[in-house]
Amino acid sequence: RQMCIRDRTGLSIRNFRNLAEQELDLPAEGVAIVGENAQGKTNLLEAVYYLETFRSFRGSRDHRLVAFGEDFFRLAGTLEGKSPEDGVRVAAAFQTRGKRKKVTVNDEEPERLGDALGCLAAVVFSPADVGLVSEGPGARRRFLDIVLSLNVRGYLGALQQFRQVLSQRNAALKDARGLGTVEVWDQGLIEGGSRVVEERALWVEKWNESFSAYYKGISGVRIGRMEYQPGFALNGASSRADIAEAFRSALLDAREREARLGSTVVGPQRDDLLLTVAEGEEGRDLREYGSGGQRRTAALALRLTEAATVRDARNQEPVILMDDVFAELDSGRSERILALMEEEETGQVILTVPKESDIRLRRDSIPRWRIREGALEW
Ligand code: ATP
Ligand code: MG
Repeated sequence: RQMCIRDRTGLSIRNFRNLAEQELDLPAEGVAIVGENAQGKTNLLEAVYYLETFRSFRGSRDHRLVAFGEDFFRLAGTLEGKSPEDGVRVAAAFQTRGKRKKVTVNDEEPERLGDALGCLAAVVFSPADVGLVSEGPGARRRFLDIVLSLNVRGYLGALQQFRQVLSQRNAALKDARGLGTVEVWDQGLIEGGSRVVEERALWVEKWNESFSAYYKGISGVRIGRMEYQPGFALNGASSRADIAEAFRSALLDAREREARLGSTVVGPQRDDLLLTVAEGEEGRDLREYGSGGQRRTAALALRLTEAATVRDARNQEPVILMDDVFAELDSGRSERILALMEEEETGQVILTVPKESDIRLRRDSIPRWRIREGALEW
């Protein structure tokens, strides 16, 4: 199968944050959006990415995305590929009253919102990504969950099953009268949970080398690694059945502690993704010891790995949304990121910069648009 490479992306915006009502035709070769602070650069990338996941990548609730004084927003994106069958049209609307969200793909409403996830194929690089490295394990689990939900069929369903059973099981553990019923939830917990663990472990195993190559590609010298740290002892288990067995025995061993603490203490809700950089023979945890630049490098390498996952899983070139990524990186690192992106023959790149002089991507070939008070000019 041929890689589906988009020709251009159309975007229609209404009442989204401070963005003016407009129809944009984003060029296939990408575009640099130049604008001063608070003009709407991040809002524009947020709008594009909303059509990929139907939520804000900044973690804002939907009603916050509605322009001040309005009561709904609407976004529509059209991808036009090299051939007509590559095209897709995704639209999303949200109404403040009743908190109604409506999503359509090619003008049809999918049965579940989950079915519409990932149609657009986009990856967002944001300055906040450094939190993927410096924050607690929850940030990295969220990263894994988003990447896997968008790229592995069945993952989202397993994750939802696991989370739902987990909260019921925790409720039973908290309530002395519920203690006798805890076991009722074990089967569902193990079913959903072992699928989640299996897919997370497979992803890390499959992409660890790429992550290292990206890390080295950007830093120029050091070797970065990622390692899956499961929330219970796998004891070498790798098949789903063996993972389920290991989970079951970890739950048995933890029973007393769970009753005492009133919550489920083993399982993928305790997973982490350890990110390290080589220091001689040893790997040092970047969360504890990494410099600002090293953490940023690891975060970029994670996003590049995410883009590679999309390319591999969906046979589609993702739109790369880069929000002011060169800030805080030394010029060597910035140059090498650009060289990497060119090597990878990344498709459409939409990047934002506060100053024209910050544009280094594809040198001068990339068109420049300006943004002022939410309106784009070119
Ligand atoms: P910076 O360079 O500082 O990152 P930016 O161009 O990325 O700036 P944005 O984050 O896109 O700026 O925000 C631009 C403006 O959008 C802010 O002034 C903010 O107050 C405004 N804004 C945020 N939410 C809404 C909303 N719901 N309705 C209207 N305006 C909003
Ligand atoms: Mg911004």
